[in-house]
Amino acid sequence: MKVHSIKRATLKMALEVAKDTYPKEFVALMRAYDGVIVELLFIPGTVGADRSAMIPLYMKPVDFSIVGSIHSHPSHNLTPSSADLSMFSRTGQVHIIVAYPYTMESWRAFDRHGNPVELDVI
Ligand SMILES: [Zn+2]
Repeated sequence: MKVHSIKRATLKMALEVAKDTYPKEFVALMRAYDGVIVELLFIPGTVGADRSAMIPLYMKPVDFSIVGSIHSHPSHNLTPSSADLSMFSRTGQVHIIVAYPYTMESWRAFDRHGNPVELDVI
């Protein structure tokens, strides 16, 4: 099923975690039901990584409700890096980057190729 929306509370939680983790990055996986992202899955060892916060591939759960990833940038840059694109291609169909200052306006969603996609906040 195509992911079309994210719950406002889930997005707000991600923005809060990004603020708490700043100036480091956080990364989490996202779980969706009926096309709506409802949950973040934090993987031990991935929060607060010093450089690029990456999910070790072997730790990716085999779980079809996992639809993609979300991570923070400690800058205003909302463009996926080449490492991000590599992670996107392995972890699902939709990905979110939240950038400093971590407000409801400072995030963007992408498909697995790094192309911007629309995601409704509901
Ligand atoms: Zn990134």
